[in-house]
Amino acid sequence: MSSTITDLLKPIGIVLGGYYLLLLVAAAIWTYRDIRARTQDVIAQVLSVTLVLVLQLPFGLPLYLLMRPKQTLADKYERALEEEYLRRDIEDEHVCPNCQRGIEGDFVVCPYCMVELRRRCVNCDRTIDLTWGVCPYCATVPGGVPRIPLPATDKTRELALNDA
Ligand SMILES: [Zn+2]
Ligand SMILES: [Zn+2]
Repeated sequence: MSSTITDLLKPIGIVLGGYYLLLLVAAAIWTYRDIRARTQDVIAQVLSVTLVLVLQLPFGLPLYLLMRPKQTLADKYERALEEEYLRRDIEDEHVCPNCQRGIEGDFVVCPYCMVELRRRCVNCDRTIDLTWGVCPYCATVPGGVPRIPLPATDKTRELALNDA
């Protein structure tokens, strides 16, 4: 009677044991891939896989998950890139719209590619934006005739003419 039970349990034990072994190997491979994405330190890689293999599934894997480095190398690289961009943005607040090189905020022409960045007002000589239709400092239309304020007498005459 007892021999039939062991005969029945044997194959089940073999199947379960084989399944567990497969799981363990899969866990070790997964650990190896995971740790390689997180650190280039060979000692840490070997220790991680050994931890999973020695302490095995119920203990090794959870322990590894608790102790592994939080950031992957890809995350680290991405963050470093982000910081670099941020730093560059702060440093080079003004860049040439043509060649993207750093310039001073009051440059009239890009010194690298000679593209016109701003123009000087023909009347007051202050730098004004290319897109502005009028100098905001003296109301001169760029390229036009400097606008000289009308004398008071002319203004009153104009008003009188408008009234008439
Ligand atoms: Zn340029
Ligand atoms: Zn002006």
